[in-house]
Amino acid sequence: MTDDGSVSNPQRRGIENRRKELAKWHRSKEWFAFRDLHARTPDAVCVHCGKKHNEIRVDVDGNIKKYKSGKRKGDPIRVNLTVNHLSRRKYISLEEYTTWDDDCEVCCDLCNQLYEQGKVICPVCKKRYIDSNSNDKECDHCYYEKHPDELAKKIENIENRNERNRIFKKNQATKQRIAKVKHPCRFRQVKQKCILGGICEHSPTKAEKNCKKKPGFERKKGLMKK
Ligand SMILES: [Zn+2]
Ligand SMILES: [Zn+2]
Repeated sequence: MTDDGSVSNPQRRGIENRRKELAKWHRSKEWFAFRDLHARTPDAVCVHCGKKHNEIRVDVDGNIKKYKSGKRKGDPIRVNLTVNHLSRRKYISLEEYTTWDDDCEVCCDLCNQLYEQGKVICPVCKKRYIDSNSNDKECDHCYYEKHPDELAKKIENIENRNERNRIFKKNQATKQRIAKVKHPCRFRQVKQKCILGGICEHSPTKAEKNCKKKPGFERKKGLMKK
């Protein structure tokens, strides 16, 4: 953006103009008529999740979803159906944009939003979404429901990994404590931290000679020079 708020990069400007144009179309009576005719009739449903317009959204456990912030905070979230355009060609003109053909579909706001993030609804439960680039035919939840052995293996793997991490961290902490105890300078802390600030780069044998910090290296009491 330049100082006057205009967009300086030509490519960005093109995107910005198209966005403005689209916003204008979305305020036109042609668009409202088109949308209502296809997406707001009583039997219209989202082609992906099957939800109707204005239906209250629920989470996977059946609890009502509510707005967490803004003017509608606490209100139930409702399904908003619209017409989705599946081809770039549909954006050529308002007339093309509001003409129904195979490149149009009735879609809800959530399926549309997640589609843009590369996700599609699970065809089995129609509740959870899966990565559209994956070969998965269903969500993990549905898959593991059918394959309890696989689920047991997965849980075991996670538990093993957690255990390995726990042991690794414990070993690291022990090593760090030993390194601190072994270091002759009383300012040297665990993880090479120095009380005088920053990191202590010096080995136990060279710290006294090489430390440039002020007031600098100070031998721990009762620790004789080797
Ligand atoms: Zn949907
Ligand atoms: Zn599923």
